[in-house]
Amino acid sequence: LFALLLFTKSQMQILSLPFFISPSLSLSLSHLSPSVHRAFKINELKTEVTNRLAMLEKRVELEGMKVVEIEKCHNDIKKLREEMASRNNSNFLEDNKKLTPRRDVPSYPKYMLSQQTIDALKKPGFDVWLWEPNEVRFICLEHMYHDLGLVKDFNINPITLKRWLLCIHDNYRNNPFHNFRHCFCVTQMMYSMICLCSLQEKFTQLDILILMTAAVCHDLDHPGFNNTYQINARTELAVRYNDISPLENHHCAVAFQIFSQPDCNIFSNFDPEAFKQIRQGTITLILATDMARHGEILDSFKQKVDNFDYADEEHITCLKMVLIKCCDISNEVRPMEVAEPWVDCLLEEYFMQSDREKAEGLPVAPFMDREKVTKPTAQIGFIKFVLIPMFETVLKLFPQIEEAMVQPLRESRDRYEELKQIDDAMNEVGGFVQKKKSENLTMGGKKK
Ligand SMILES: [Zn+2]
Repeated sequence: LFALLLFTKSQMQILSLPFFISPSLSLSLSHLSPSVHRAFKINELKTEVTNRLAMLEKRVELEGMKVVEIEKCHNDIKKLREEMASRNNSNFLEDNKKLTPRRDVPSYPKYMLSQQTIDALKKPGFDVWLWEPNEVRFICLEHMYHDLGLVKDFNINPITLKRWLLCIHDNYRNNPFHNFRHCFCVTQMMYSMICLCSLQEKFTQLDILILMTAAVCHDLDHPGFNNTYQINARTELAVRYNDISPLENHHCAVAFQIFSQPDCNIFSNFDPEAFKQIRQGTITLILATDMARHGEILDSFKQKVDNFDYADEEHITCLKMVLIKCCDISNEVRPMEVAEPWVDCLLEEYFMQSDREKAEGLPVAPFMDREKVTKPTAQIGFIKFVLIPMFETVLKLFPQIEEAMVQPLRESRDRYEELKQIDDAMNEVGGFVQKKKSENLTMGGKKK
């Protein structure tokens, strides 16, 4: 087609001529005189060539339309691809409006936090489902920064603190699990550990600020699909961070994008050296929340814990990494009524991912597969092999967490084991009934 399009009309006439003399026409013309013969032949040829040319022109026109249609399809596909990519990876770099701090900082009256709430905030058993929407959670976070003396000691502008927290809220997505409420839970658990373990006696205020700020920022702009998905689907995040903790790197980057705006920079009064420390410390802690590094970090902590030295910077950093890890996965430390809804949220997010992985032909992890996982099976292994060993190691340094944190974990493990036994028994009965039914059906068939 393209070759044809390149020829002009006259070129085509010349080219087509030899092919249009049909055998019957040449035979009938052979009886006539050479001159008449020639005239006839030329006229016949003229007609045939004109017809043929018209046909070819029509064909070129039709094929040309097809080319235009194909080109349109290509453009449509390209647009769709771009739209999908921007939806999958919509990130802070393209979505500037979320980063723009709110000018109108709402003022919530102080009295909204009762003394009862203030006291409850210091405990791991705090009911994080208490308030909807999130307004009171802002005040609680704000209260923690004030209560720990961070606002005073670091001369943080209280209005900037408010703006920063609102901006943080706006940069968490509405995922079933990785949302602003999860950010609040992790930060509140950090606050309660700081209080429970008297960490302010062991750590500098800068370390406390790093612990709290890393907790607040640790899942910023989480897309709801984990690192495995990012890497397997070769998303923009995985490409940008070379498959190395793409999500955690992204959370950090978003955090410091937010700090780069003067209106939201709670560290604006810091000297460069202090800012460098807070930046390095926060990055280290957020990157430590990648569960792919769980074994490595816990092993390193286990080596230090028996001879722990608070004067050793490396020991302190390692402890801070373990603390943020504990808080990040601490839902099962909370009372059953508070913890259980989180399992549903997590499974909902997992199922969204595994459904998408199936649709996209990517590998699916069994623990995310709605066909394979149940609440007890999801939790038992995690509590037994991840949570309890980690919290029991921390217990060596802080015996005060035994009752408030480790005991609830053991109770939760026992409860899920009971639930699993019930599930198994039900399945066995179900299987037995099913087997009997099919046996009866077979026997009935045989009798006939
Ligand atoms: Zn998290």
